[in-house]
Amino acid sequence: MPVYQLILYPQHDAITDTQRDQLLTRLQEAGFLGTAFTLKGREHFTTGEHFLDQLSFLGCSPFIETEPPADPGACEDAAQRGGFCHIHVTPALPQAHFRANPQARVRCPVCRQSVAAALLAGPPDTVHACARCGHAAPVTDWNWQGNAGCGNLFIEIWGIHPGEAAPVEGFMHSLEIITDCPWSFFHTQA
Ligand SMILES: [Zn+2]
Repeated sequence: MPVYQLILYPQHDAITDTQRDQLLTRLQEAGFLGTAFTLKGREHFTTGEHFLDQLSFLGCSPFIETEPPADPGACEDAAQRGGFCHIHVTPALPQAHFRANPQARVRCPVCRQSVAAALLAGPPDTVHACARCGHAAPVTDWNWQGNAGCGNLFIEIWGIHPGEAAPVEGFMHSLEIITDCPWSFFHTQA
């Protein structure tokens, strides 16, 4: 069962621990993050009271579950499969990481030949040659069509399906003000 995630990331590879702390504080104050809980040894947050205000809904009648199950025993299992929305902010990593949706279709940067992301798996500096035109380029230089991102910190919003919701512009702008760099997003499944 894949866990669907909406990933927000800074277009920048030098977010500091101090900036991450400020980010968490501001997101809690703004009601984006709710209560902290532990999932597989990592700190996650329930959604705050203003979480849904920061998303625009793309479908006709989306239903986004934000309430964890009342039964604590059921909660961890539901969290693990993205049965309700919750948020993990990764540590500020020492260097940028490339993350991509493993189910995406990716295009050759030269001839636009479409290939499955799984064929491009590997570290970011892995060079993949196009089966159609022969152009060889690192996987990060292929056209991911909005299905991947590179940064040194990621806000993972678990439980949002592709095409279901996207962050509103005002929220992306507030992330930019807090961290002093622009942000992007993509959908993925883990
Ligand atoms: Zn090509």
